[in-house]
Amino acid sequence: MTLKILDTTLRDGEQTPGVSLSVEQKMLIASALDKLGVDIIEAGTAIASEGDFNAIKEISQAGLNAEICSFARIKKEDIDAAADANADSVFMVAPSSEIHIKSKFRGKSEEDVIQISVETIEYAKERGLIVEFGGEDASRGKLEFIKRLFEAAVDAKADRLSYCDTVGVLTPERAESIMKELSSQFKIPISIHCHDDFGLATINTIYAVKGGATEIHATINGLGERAGNAALEEVVMALEVLYGIKTRINKKNIYNTSKLVEKLTRVAVPPNKPIVGDNAFTHESGIHTSALLRDTTTYEPISPETVGRERLLVLGKHAGRASVEALMKEFGYKATKEQMLEILNRIKEIGDKGKRVTDADVKTIVETVLQIKREKKVKLEGLSIVSGMSITPTASVKLRINGHERIEAATGLGPVDAAINAIKKAISEYADIELLSYHVDAITGGTDALVDVIIQLKRGNRIVTSRGARTDIIMASVEAFIEGLNMLI
Ligand code: MN
Repeated sequence: MTLKILDTTLRDGEQTPGVSLSVEQKMLIASALDKLGVDIIEAGTAIASEGDFNAIKEISQAGLNAEICSFARIKKEDIDAAADANADSVFMVAPSSEIHIKSKFRGKSEEDVIQISVETIEYAKERGLIVEFGGEDASRGKLEFIKRLFEAAVDAKADRLSYCDTVGVLTPERAESIMKELSSQFKIPISIHCHDDFGLATINTIYAVKGGATEIHATINGLGERAGNAALEEVVMALEVLYGIKTRINKKNIYNTSKLVEKLTRVAVPPNKPIVGDNAFTHESGIHTSALLRDTTTYEPISPETVGRERLLVLGKHAGRASVEALMKEFGYKATKEQMLEILNRIKEIGDKGKRVTDADVKTIVETVLQIKREKKVKLEGLSIVSGMSITPTASVKLRINGHERIEAATGLGPVDAAINAIKKAISEYADIELLSYHVDAITGGTDALVDVIIQLKRGNRIVTSRGARTDIIMASVEAFIEGLNMLI
């Protein structure tokens, strides 16, 4: 059987501190999730707000393949809101640990929880909803009570059950044994809902699947309350590659979905995050890159293309001969043994000062050592910026491109954005350039600090890094951009 995936990026993921998505943004993410191939999209909590209600309604009417689900408590008004929003299903949770029953159902007993659950499930079925019934905080509850609760839910015609590790205290061993017990007793599908408070969400989810869970809950980039939920990209790739368990996920869409969610939620993916982090398929060290250039499987467990990414080789202080040679080949340069040694020494020098070595740095070093004088294709001849309060930041630039003068002006969200937009406009007929990343560091203290801007530019399938270091942040950014352009044009 193919494992089912309920994606809760738009519900538990939106409960990430600081995250709030508009209806339009939720629609964009839902479409991406549908293309990714998730079986169920938990799109929000219909009763929670007008925005959530409208988002669920719009997503339900969009004709997606996935089942559209709303979160609900064991309350009739929650069910009404979900049904009125045209959701296909509800993920309905009942408190199932002593702590949760005490704090949320003051004065009520376990038997009360069972009775209210049954009534609400029956009501949801009357309103035509598929019911996935979950025990909230089940992992801190008594298994004996969870079983009685689930028995009653099954009798009330719930369609699926869910075991929730609401505060992330499950261990892989318990996840597997509990799921074994539950799946042998209950014949309807059971899902697992894990949180990452101890960094165990992925492995707990996998062990629950080993124990018999037929559906998993996950979010893109592992978003979610507190430390987040199980990350879809991690669970899916580990299950498929390491455990041979199939899902319906179109793995090639994993990276672009992650990027979309990162952009719209403004929660940055850490560079070292498995599968989707910037560094997950980036190689710097000399020994690694030289082996990789011969055989990509040497230092990669899966190829980046599997998840819709590209391999990135970056030069740094660990850069060895092979990676520098690869870059030189690109520019058609050849060096003698002595020159090569000098080039490598100079690269390590920059790295030892604690600075990141960019492609543009290496090119400058190579050209200096080989005494190659090259006319720069793109030169900045003038720049003026207007910015301040109550006006739109505007920049005008004068560039010399292949000897021709170009003057352009553009606006932006800030002065740096305006300057970069003006340059992009000026070069637009020469090359289609995409700015992939922009990173600023202040090297010294005060407002007169030297700022170090490192950017990543992309043209076609070539990616280069370059730097600008100045006390003027706009000039440092522009310098980095022009340096990068000269690598790409
Ligand atoms: Mn949760």
